[in-house]
Amino acid sequence: MSNAEALARYLNASKRAVVFTGAGISTESGIPDFRSPGGVWSKMKPIMFQDFVRSRDARNEAWSRVFNRTAGWTGAEPNAGHHAVTTLLNAGKVRAIITQNVDNLHQASGAPAKKVIELHGNAGYAKCLTCAERFELEDVEPRWRAGEDLTCGCGGLLKTATISFGQPMPEEQMARATREAEKCDLFLVLGSSLVVRPASGLPLIAKEGGAKLIIVNREPTDLDWCADLVLNTEIGPLMTETLALLA
Ligand code: ZN
Repeated sequence: MSNAEALARYLNASKRAVVFTGAGISTESGIPDFRSPGGVWSKMKPIMFQDFVRSRDARNEAWSRVFNRTAGWTGAEPNAGHHAVTTLLNAGKVRAIITQNVDNLHQASGAPAKKVIELHGNAGYAKCLTCAERFELEDVEPRWRAGEDLTCGCGGLLKTATISFGQPMPEEQMARATREAEKCDLFLVLGSSLVVRPASGLPLIAKEGGAKLIIVNREPTDLDWCADLVLNTEIGPLMTETLALLA
């Protein structure tokens, strides 16, 4: 049986699948995996949340990375993997997408924003740290280039809507992700090494609830031992082939 046939067999038997995605699905769109050797964090130090809040220099450095596109998180196009997941979602086969990515590529491929649970936020826009009002990057970029320390009308600091190192996990998204993991009958991991806590606990929650666990990742993961199927392969070609085999 081919990889695609094996995956299609599980998807065909599932009624409430959930897809969990990590950096591996977006590297196929040219977005660097920031934790891997050669990734963004091996070239520049992450800015801790506490430093961002405390220091104007740290904020300036953070915005410089955003507007000079240093991190490479934005501006890429969704690939075959994102499109296949969106097809499954829109067909009702997948209930929700839980993602560790901040690149907005699930939404860019047509997934409704309310079906995408972003555990690490979204680098595509900014939010006020005090009142949570949303700001578009193209609206605030000229203000930053003019030398402003970016703030909201309420006086709060603006920051990209990502969850930085040192910043608490978003409670609502974690709660939603946990509920989806509990309720699903198939938990499909696409391109995550499953090492970042607390997100790495979600596959175990799904397994405890009786779901099948499938891990598709280029390298082995720490949770391969409890998976029903492990496929060490590229995501885009596999998912495209699998879609063609679904009932
Ligand atoms: Zn505000």
